Amino acid sequence: MSLLTSPKVICHQYQIKPLRRRGQNFLINDFVIKKVLKAADLKKQDNVLEIGPGLGALTKELAKKAKEVVAIEIDQQLVMVLKNELKDYQNIKIVQKDIREIKLSDYGLKSYKIVANLPFNITGLVLKRFLSHSIKPETIVVILQKEVGQRIIAQPPRMSKLSVMTQFYGQVRIVSNIKKDNFWPKPKVDSVILKIKPFISSRFQDENLFFQTVRAGFSSPRKYLLNNLEKSAMISKERGKEFFKQINLDKKIRAQELSVEEWIKLIQKISSKK
Ligand code: SAM
Repeated sequence: MSLLTSPKVICHQYQIKPLRRRGQNFLINDFVIKKVLKAADLKKQDNVLEIGPGLGALTKELAKKAKEVVAIEIDQQLVMVLKNELKDYQNIKIVQKDIREIKLSDYGLKSYKIVANLPFNITGLVLKRFLSHSIKPETIVVILQKEVGQRIIAQPPRMSKLSVMTQFYGQVRIVSNIKKDNFWPKPKVDSVILKIKPFISSRFQDENLFFQTVRAGFSSPRKYLLNNLEKSAMISKERGKEFFKQINLDKKIRAQELSVEEWIKLIQKISSKK
């Protein structure tokens, strides 16, 4: 049986025109929903935070598997549709809000899993917000642009601020590739399902210093890391050379060539001498 009433039909019925600026590309293939559910591996006691439920195709299926779904949708018109289409589901809480502004405590979310087909324009921001949150999700399973997914799971020498950030906070992997034909309206690019399993405890206590150093390191990506760190006054050249040697880093290494473990070692050195 199909899980989906066609988004095109629903939009026509409610006279809604999907908005590109809000990343409104709705899922039109059951099979993708099933793959997302499998990756999310929900249990009856799980609370789910869904970001951007849209017309509710995924929301319904999440509600069948989990204890409660808190679905945060920014778009007033879509919230109206959701409230009507999902009225028979007692365990779905629909909230009209910008995900960037919600407070988890307002919804009693102490342990939760994030599952979402993310709006493309706020992917990095959303991941950063929830991964660095004091109440971290148990898992994150999201559909996002393929190119962004590949940047997130990248390894040295192709690291970026985004891959360092996500891999600092959790284990990342691409579960599946999703072609653009699985959405309506059809986006310009393909997507992936990405799964993140956040680490329980922080890998480095002073997260501010960690990210300040990483940002400084990537400030001119073509230049040597040592020069970037010196320029932004993170370390003197002399000290830097000494630290690099102690942890076996070539003095000509660039920021994108360091693994998260190497960043941690380096920043431990920097902070111990401050
Ligand atoms: N979950 C639906 C699906 O898979 O068919 C829709 C996914 S669509 C890619 C992204 C959804 O996020 C849209 O419904 C959009 O209105 C919503 N959205 C965009 N920006 C948002 C924000 N800042 N906060 C909450 N929802 C947002």
